[in-house]
Amino acid sequence: MDTVLVTGGAGFIGIHTVIALLEKKYRILIIDSLINSSKKSIERLISKNLLKKESINSQIIFINGDIRDVNFLRSVFKKASKSGHIIKYVLHFAGLKSISDSILFPDEYWEVNVIGTKRLLKVMKENNCHNFVFSSSATVYSLDEKSPLKENSSLSPNNQYGYTKLAVEKFLEGLVHDQERFWRIVCLRYFNPIGAHPSGDFGESPLNTPNNLFPYLCQVASKKRKKLYIFGQNWPTSDGTCIRDYIHIMDLAEGHIAAIDYIKSGAKEPFLIINLGTGLGTSVLELVKTFENVNNLRIDYEFIERREKDKAIVYADPNFAKRILNWEAKRNIFDMCKDGWNWQKKNPDGY
Ligand code: NAD
Ligand code: UDP
Repeated sequence: MDTVLVTGGAGFIGIHTVIALLEKKYRILIIDSLINSSKKSIERLISKNLLKKESINSQIIFINGDIRDVNFLRSVFKKASKSGHIIKYVLHFAGLKSISDSILFPDEYWEVNVIGTKRLLKVMKENNCHNFVFSSSATVYSLDEKSPLKENSSLSPNNQYGYTKLAVEKFLEGLVHDQERFWRIVCLRYFNPIGAHPSGDFGESPLNTPNNLFPYLCQVASKKRKKLYIFGQNWPTSDGTCIRDYIHIMDLAEGHIAAIDYIKSGAKEPFLIINLGTGLGTSVLELVKTFENVNNLRIDYEFIERREKDKAIVYADPNFAKRILNWEAKRNIFDMCKDGWNWQKKNPDGY
């Protein structure tokens, strides 16, 4: 049983990936400062015994701490090796992700997303652990690039958050360039992960007002919010609303298993950047209508002005992931809407 360190494992993408890792029988060490999540996600995972296993308690360990704290990170690696479970892979989800906050608090975003990541890599190296999967984002692509976006499409983030992601990608690329015989690194550029685990017991649990469309939509459906405000109705798309590449959270989680498998099987390329998307675009109105139809409810919405620096159409070219990782998204927009609402209905206030 290999041990995987999952930073930010209590968060939205982290906890779903932990579920996918459990299914693949990895031993998991989660570290999280809980700045944007709750320990309840992990407690629930253990108490639900989702996989009906007796040993789940010994398969997951959670440690509360901050990736910026080098001594904390050292203690995590030390503890793991003392117990005979040397950390073999690191999935690095911990980070700050609000685009609007990144503009207001750039120092904090660089401190956590960039400096925090560098410290983590430093401690990994000290411990001879060099297998790293990084959560990057489609936000690194230039606004001028036309979809489908390929990994070699031009890059030009339009906010601090995007710059921190690109800075880490570049740092990682340099690291592999200089120390190729050690590092095996995969940067995954996520498109728009939405939905929830089909059990309805795990999902996105925003602590504040959601910035993203899908969690906001779910909160309107559960009457926590009055209506959905759609940003613009005159975009150059078939129905005038923006198009994105929504991907089911469990497909995204499984993409991480594929990345680990790639490293495990020898990683022909020591450094890779790979899109995780479906390759399909869905407009805001299509998403709202699908959500209404699948779940048999009505969403009150109103068009308002465009959001600053928004982009009409963004979707991935997912072919590289298919070719290199042998991974592709299996679930569709109906599954995303059904599973997302199931979670929201069962957990209107989150975990
Ligand atoms: P999330 O906020 O739910 O999870 C991130 C987790 O990291 C949280 O549990 C938070 O408490 C933890 N964390 C933050 N700062 C930390 C620190 N200094 N030390 C330790 N833990 C810390 O976000 P998510 O949606 O699960 O995103 C995970 C990763 O994927 C992030 O790096 C994010 O930038 C990236 N990403 C997310 C999306 C998306 O749409 N959700 C898209 C592209 C990329
Ligand atoms: N959007 C919207 N209302 C909201 C949130 C988002 O109309 O309350 C739109 C937004 O303009 C974009 C799409 O929904 O076209 C997806 O937005 P999100 O922030 O979820 O993802 P991103 O734009 O970062 O891809």
